[in-house]
Amino acid sequence: MKAHVDQSGCISCALCVDTCPEIFHFNKDAKAEAVDKKIPSDAMDLAERARDGCPVSVISIQ
Ligand code: SF4
Repeated sequence: MKAHVDQSGCISCALCVDTCPEIFHFNKDAKAEAVDKKIPSDAMDLAERARDGCPVSVISIQ
């Protein structure tokens, strides 16, 4: 499972970056992006929390 951010809708609130910094970070345009790697099992809960908490629902995990 990998995370993906639809950056066109990201409002740069930082929730995902603060919640799960192992997976999410800001790019140079201050939009969140997810690392291109399989989410480690010990980070999945936080990644899902970030997805569920994103105020504009632009994070997917699949
Ligand atoms: S939680 Fe959503 S809106 Fe906020 S920085 Fe992350 S992707 Fe962007």
